[in-house]
Amino acid sequence: MPQTRETTCPLDCPDACSLQVELEDGRVVGIDGSADDPVTRGFICGKVRRFADHLYCDERVSQPMRRTRDKSDVTLTAAGPAYIAEHFEPISWDEAYSLIANRLRADRDTFGGESILPLCYGGSNGRLTQDSLDARLFYRLGASKLARTVCAAPAGAAFQGLYGKMPGVAFPDYASSDLIVVWGNNPHHSGVHLTPFIQQATRNGAALVVLDPRRTSLAAQADLHLPIYPGTDLCVALAMIHWLFENGHADHDFLEQHTSGHELLRARAAEWPVERAAEVSRIDEAALRSFFSLYAEATTPVVRCGWGPERNRNGGSAVAAILAIPAVANKFGRRGAGFTMSNSGAWQFDILRAAAEQPPNTRTVNMNLVGETLLHENDPPIRSLFIYNCNPVATLPAQNKLCAGLQREDLFTVVFDQVFTDSAMFADVILPATTFLEHDDLKCGYGYPRLGVVRPVVAPHGEAKPNNEVFGELLQRLGLAKEDDLCTPEQLQAALLGEQQASQLRDQGELEPACGLRPIQMLDVRPRTPSGKIEFAAESLTHSQAGLYCYVADEETPTNDSKRSPSSSYPLALISPSTGRTVNSTFGQLIEELAQVTVHPSDAEARGIEDGQHVRVFNPLGAVDLPAKVEDSVAVGVVSIPKGIWSRHTLNGQTSNALSPDTLSDIGAGACFNDARVEVQPLST
Ligand code: SF4
Repeated sequence: MPQTRETTCPLDCPDACSLQVELEDGRVVGIDGSADDPVTRGFICGKVRRFADHLYCDERVSQPMRRTRDKSDVTLTAAGPAYIAEHFEPISWDEAYSLIANRLRADRDTFGGESILPLCYGGSNGRLTQDSLDARLFYRLGASKLARTVCAAPAGAAFQGLYGKMPGVAFPDYASSDLIVVWGNNPHHSGVHLTPFIQQATRNGAALVVLDPRRTSLAAQADLHLPIYPGTDLCVALAMIHWLFENGHADHDFLEQHTSGHELLRARAAEWPVERAAEVSRIDEAALRSFFSLYAEATTPVVRCGWGPERNRNGGSAVAAILAIPAVANKFGRRGAGFTMSNSGAWQFDILRAAAEQPPNTRTVNMNLVGETLLHENDPPIRSLFIYNCNPVATLPAQNKLCAGLQREDLFTVVFDQVFTDSAMFADVILPATTFLEHDDLKCGYGYPRLGVVRPVVAPHGEAKPNNEVFGELLQRLGLAKEDDLCTPEQLQAALLGEQQASQLRDQGELEPACGLRPIQMLDVRPRTPSGKIEFAAESLTHSQAGLYCYVADEETPTNDSKRSPSSSYPLALISPSTGRTVNSTFGQLIEELAQVTVHPSDAEARGIEDGQHVRVFNPLGAVDLPAKVEDSVAVGVVSIPKGIWSRHTLNGQTSNALSPDTLSDIGAGACFNDARVEVQPLST
């Protein structure tokens, strides 16, 4: 008899969909969106609709495993289940716990707790299963801390500095906007539920402007598509601010009353007349002027700022300048007007603070520099690496450096995951993890800020276990557990929300934030900065290396890698946008075909490259061999390889991350994927 169960999607996506999962004989046979939810509206993305393929795939880890041979022959070309079968053997959970606890204890006692590094990111974990018992374990071991900077760090820092994470325009309110600006975001692939509201607005007569180096399907529908050159968003945003001031569209009363630091912003913007921004960003000057006029004349314009603008050396300043635009022109105070960055600030809670857990005063390792740290950091060296909710080989920059570090024979690596990822090849112990359909959790979307309950709807696959059970057992075995530790989902939920809200959540299955789901900016919600004003020059932003709102050109890119060559030798900008097939790298094992590099016809012709031909994309950091797709959907001078692909998706195992430098953004020390500069040439046959 088929059954339907309800839960929430906790994947790294803004939408936090309400899901209906269909079961037959205890197995998932279908999954779709709840029709009652005002944002999910009865549909979900194709990635999660096929979640049963992920749940029951051959590459699902079903029991703990231990490495039986050394790591000398690990290469990205060898990745896959065959490698795992040859190099690992099954062990019991008891053996796995003992191996891990003994090694962590030995490393802590001999080299100090900082020789242990947890490496994790969003994965498919929500508020109860990450930064929870895992953090408790690593805090109490005195482990090195991880700065989770691979995504959203520059944007988060800029947003926090200017607005203190004031909630943004809700997706349903886009329907009330008269101009929608989508800047560095492709909602068709990351956050599909925004698209119908944009379409509703355009049907109502709203104009749509898209800034993206690619002609995405949304850009193809736009009134104005501005194919911005990667890394130049700051120049365009400053030119727009300058133009608003110069043409009488800045609201001086608003600036005086509700902002601080506007003098600095205005002075930096004055360096960017429209002609200069057009030249640097490679956008037609007349198109830029049209964009600025459209915005100035709109009554309820909204800017959807994505994460594309942050992934470069100017990323923090770029996002700060983009978010400053609505404030300069005072496009707030009406439904549908303002901006959306992340709405994660709608819920201000921290499970560890709630559980009175204090982080230790230990060193912090930047996630983007893990390869560098494994190879060169000696004080103390990283001896144990615990990878969970994360597939670093597919997601971190400087892939070859990272792999060399992971290959160290003296490094003990645990990979705790749902499937055999590329990173699992480097493990000493592999542990099977549950998916979100197999454990309890809590999810707050960073686009749609509903707090939803994640419920186990099927039994765990094989011997898979949830994070909190595994980290709880390790706390016990290491003698680090305390009698009054909060451990169960109910205890953690109550600590996080308080008894009253926790019981409300149990009854209703979801909660709204105190500000409501559709607050109007500068009316219902205001900046949560120290001054209560919009702080264009917040103290936290002024440590930028080049100076806040100061543009650094390609040639001036700071580098910590002596192998990085001037951009003139590698004239093409590489971008790695998300696709409709993976959420970051999750679900990569389900894609069988090779990835492609998209090259503009004029760049292809100049290099003798034909559509479908195998090519090498390269720079001094690495080389990726794969088929070319010759298409004018990318701007001239830009090539694109999908984000999140695995080693099996290229001819030589390296992916676009092998070409990305591990340099850091100006603010937030974020990843600079879009600073990769490359050359492309046909592969000889
Ligand atoms: S990944 Fe995003 S769009 Fe897809 S089901 Fe999850 S929340 Fe919804």
